[in-house]
Amino acid sequence: MRAPSAETGPRSVAIVGAGVVGLACAAELLDRGVTVELHERAGRIGAAACSWFAGGMLAPWCEGESAEEPVVRLGHEAARWWQRQTGAVVAHGTLVLALSRDRAELRRFAGRTLQAEEIDGEALARLEPDLAGRFARGLFFAGEAHLDPRRAILALAETVRAKGGTIQLDSEVDPEALEADAVLDCRGMAAAPALPQLRGVKGEMLIVRTTEIALSRPVRLLHPRIPLYVVPRADGHVMIGATMIEGGAAKRVSGRAMLELLGAAYALHPAFAEAEIVELGADLRPTFPDNLPRLARRGRVIHVNGLYRHGFLLSPAMARMAADAVLHERAKPELLHDLAA
Ligand SMILES: Cc1cc2nc3c(=O)[nH]c(=O)nc-3n(C[C@H](O)[C@H](O)[C@H](O)COP(=O)(O)OP(=O)(O)OC[C@H]3O[C@@H](n4cnc5c(N)ncnc54)[C@H](O)[C@@H]3O)c2cc1C
Repeated sequence: MRAPSAETGPRSVAIVGAGVVGLACAAELLDRGVTVELHERAGRIGAAACSWFAGGMLAPWCEGESAEEPVVRLGHEAARWWQRQTGAVVAHGTLVLALSRDRAELRRFAGRTLQAEEIDGEALARLEPDLAGRFARGLFFAGEAHLDPRRAILALAETVRAKGGTIQLDSEVDPEALEADAVLDCRGMAAAPALPQLRGVKGEMLIVRTTEIALSRPVRLLHPRIPLYVVPRADGHVMIGATMIEGGAAKRVSGRAMLELLGAAYALHPAFAEAEIVELGADLRPTFPDNLPRLARRGRVIHVNGLYRHGFLLSPAMARMAADAVLHERAKPELLHDLAA
């Protein structure tokens, strides 16, 4: 843990929203010696947060297949930061696979990413014995990691409290009305009225429990229509999500998405047909038109938002840049946008 340092700028900062980015900003500011008060409208961390539904992949190289360059570069900070703040990181890499009929997808994915190591069926069997014999080749991104996002944000909230931060639950506040020296608005989709360009992109997931297949790392199954990922969690639980399903503004879970997720999981391994369904979930991911997050400064308030599908991957970098912007008046971190008052 870094010792608090004496930086210039406000000595007390209020943060609104204890989702992943609000908590990350709190931890970062506390590390820099600032007094932090965090307000969360829900009575429990995660209860009203998009962050509760995330997969928890810290996969900058894989995201580079479709994301902009800053996502890859800034995402590199994530695994080390989460490990330092929470100890919750599993650094086993990521596997990317495709059914033999979709092999061209593997080539395309390797061509659009860095750090991919091509592996054959034997190497795959060593990495994931339960997938032995099912795929002739794949890609391995050894430097990537994952975490359980629910455990991670609960652990991060404990870290914030241990560093001396205050977290007020059941505290729904208006960022403009707070009296702190500076305010970070980390309300996710609830900030949309203040950020007209922000839109919600739906993400759907399910959690199953199975004793028939055990995985050690996230596995992405490439498919031209429904690219799927599965992320192992504790006690036989597996989170299944799709990188590309977009549609509908509602937070309801659609039958079509569940059919597609389960169909693709079954293609990865038939054992998923016997798995117990534990939970279905969906939420809107806060997204700007360029799919990149922003620090949007309006006077005393800085909005930290637009984390899209990279909340856990990019919160460490966003928190670092938000702290720079708060503490150093003339700092111009990338992704900072000045809004008209
Ligand atoms: C299915 C799915 C899978 C995903 N997978 C991944 C993944 O693998 N890796 C990854 O990095 N990201 C992933 N994401 C994206 C990630 O979840 C989001 O980018 C992230 O949760 C956004 O975090 P946030 O803190 O901005 O918003 P939220 O998590 O929504 O937090 C906002 C908080 O503000 C609070 N709040 C709102 N208004 C007020 C108010 N007035 N006063 C007080 N509190 C208020 C809310 O209650 C909430 O707790 C996924 C998302 C989904 C839906």
